[in-house]
Amino acid sequence: PSALLGGHRAAGSKSGVPDVRERTLIAVKPDGVQRRLVGQIIQRFEQRGFKLVGLKMLQVSDDLLSQHYCELRTKPFYPRLLEYMTSGPVVVMVWEGHKVVQASRTMVGHTNPLEAQAGTVRGDFSFHVSRNVVHASDSLEGAQREIQLWFQKKELLNWDCFDQILTCE
Ligand code: ADP
Repeated sequence: PSALLGGHRAAGSKSGVPDVRERTLIAVKPDGVQRRLVGQIIQRFEQRGFKLVGLKMLQVSDDLLSQHYCELRTKPFYPRLLEYMTSGPVVVMVWEGHKVVQASRTMVGHTNPLEAQAGTVRGDFSFHVSRNVVHASDSLEGAQREIQLWFQKKELLNWDCFDQILTCE
């Protein structure tokens, strides 16, 4: 059990034990912050059982965004995307847990909110692709790249998750 409670096994272990150390980057975009959705989005990840290991609010620079969205630079919507993402502060987080990358993509829903299922963040809170509330890394490699881009190592905490604290006396 100690391996499950924040143990230090290597990512991708084939021991059959769930890899609880996988991490992903989730960001509440400026429209989500403006609409006071930060709490509800955090709640969904906590409820699902994932562990928050990093969290901060910031006004994003063009430079950071151009690195974050480097694959989209040639898209026609790219200038609008930069404008959107710098229109106000974002809340960026790192969540940890078994298959958290895949699970969060499912929880966040389709890029275009009109195609996102009800029950997903985008399906429940948005209706337009250029105001889709939240970002979630789309692969393990993408998550590693994005976490390094947005967070310094010292900003991410390894903490043990106990079901209950019984030492209250
Ligand atoms: P995702 O955010 O689901 O990983 P992409 O990486 O394809 O999707 O796109 C990044 C972001 O760019 C989207 O979340 C959305 O905010 C914006 N975007 C994508 N496609 C469009 C589009 N056709 N028009 C406007 N904005 C778009």
